[in-house]
Amino acid sequence: MVASLDLDPTIGALLGETTTEIDVARKNRVFCNRNLRMDSIEMIGFDMDYTLALYHQEKLEQLSMELTLQKLIGKHGYPEAIRELSYDPKWAIRGLMVDRQLGNVFKMDRHAYVGRCYHGFKELDHDQRRASYRNEKINLSADRFEWIDTLFGLPEAVMYTTLVDWADKQTGTVDYDKLFGDIRTAIDEAHRDDTLKSVIKANLPEYIAKDPLLGETLHKFRSSGKKLFLLTNSLYDYTTVVMSYLLDGERKAYPSWRNYFDIVIVGGAKPAFFNELRPFVQIDPQTMQPIPTNGEIKHLSRDKIYQGGNVVAFEQMTGIKGEQVLYIGDHIYGDILRLRKQHMWRTAMVLQELEREISVSERLEAQISDLDLLDRRHRNLESEIDYQTLRLKKIQRLLDDPSTSAPLRARLEEERKLARTSVETLRERAELMETEVDSLEARIDRAYNPHWGSCLREGNENSRFGEQVNDYADLYTSRVSNFGPYSPLRYFRAPRRPMPHEI
Ligand code: IMP
Ligand code: MG
Repeated sequence: MVASLDLDPTIGALLGETTTEIDVARKNRVFCNRNLRMDSIEMIGFDMDYTLALYHQEKLEQLSMELTLQKLIGKHGYPEAIRELSYDPKWAIRGLMVDRQLGNVFKMDRHAYVGRCYHGFKELDHDQRRASYRNEKINLSADRFEWIDTLFGLPEAVMYTTLVDWADKQTGTVDYDKLFGDIRTAIDEAHRDDTLKSVIKANLPEYIAKDPLLGETLHKFRSSGKKLFLLTNSLYDYTTVVMSYLLDGERKAYPSWRNYFDIVIVGGAKPAFFNELRPFVQIDPQTMQPIPTNGEIKHLSRDKIYQGGNVVAFEQMTGIKGEQVLYIGDHIYGDILRLRKQHMWRTAMVLQELEREISVSERLEAQISDLDLLDRRHRNLESEIDYQTLRLKKIQRLLDDPSTSAPLRARLEEERKLARTSVETLRERAELMETEVDSLEARIDRAYNPHWGSCLREGNENSRFGEQVNDYADLYTSRVSNFGPYSPLRYFRAPRRPMPHEI
């Protein structure tokens, strides 16, 4: 919205347009869980992979799976036959949990209730889920469970499901734990030994989605006086190729990506950066080797590249602390959760899935409100059944009482007949309605993901992943350039959240 004051056009051009939240399409908005005044932020830090650099998810997953298969077959002794299986990159979503002991993959709601669960491609029914996960409290931090909490992790869930399905059809018992371990090791190797990154580096446009508004967004932050830094777990050779592709030459004043950033830290080893005291090392950008320094690094310079490091030394050297820093990342554990639990830095999470989640919910708006209405009616019907059942019990008690007079008994028997018919009719209606609620819910769910539904919701609750975004990300949005239309001094305010008794 342009301010409706009659400004002199020259002054208007100088001041620029003022955009308000209602002008921004919902899928491009920045959402706020915890109030945040951008004018009190002095430094903004950025993660690189899946934050500044958005990947074409399906392409990257396919590559990751191909390389993992090569390693499983070539190094871990798996048969050629597994290459012929069909691995569907769309099968998994972020926030799934792998149970290495039973060979299952499941999704939980915010109470850690297992909402749906697959063993291979077979979905477990209610009783099977109950038998596996409802008899004792699940210790999610045990080695038995692996949380798929970054988009880099989706291929692991897809491959595990496909290979569990395959292994169950072979002879002999299946070691589900080892199977996951082998997949994990192979994927880990692909990330570390450059097999994955060399392919990406050679085909950047195929794997990385270049955002034309990124340079402008970073420039806007800088021109409002904020310092910017890059803190990535990627090493320098990869970082510089990706960042150059994203930013070099995008704006005249910034010929190189390095010009946007006041500090560049690669190989940050997050979450260790936030909870250990690893030293900063200055590296030579040509050789990537450490440059010997006289003792500890005392200052982080704009023209140098650092590797490793830790948050305590970072705050000491920059003199900027806690709530004055906003860190924008995509990894709920490494970038957001550890930081929020142990430090005062403010956090913004890039949730690439949000664009699609919002588009789907906008497309299905009418069906979602039908579901809401139907669900409410179903609940009312259940209360009515409870009321009539209670009434029936009271009638029965009076009929069982020998002191009840004959005329009253006759009337009560009539009442009982009516109440029984009424309960039966109500039950039939409730059953029909329940079927309708279930089928509408399933239809809506399938639009997000055919197997898992929305990554942020599970049943009537937030999913466990959605709840963590809620709890730990002060802001969340689908891409960094979504900050562009907002004033760099904006006061992001969280909506008032009613408790159930207030609704
Ligand atoms: P960031 O998101 O910019 O901090 O960087 C993430 C880095 O972690 C990328 O260089 C990824 O290749 C790397 N990475 C992701 N998953 C794995 C893994 O399983 N093993 C080793 N490195 C990984
Ligand atoms: Mg990342």
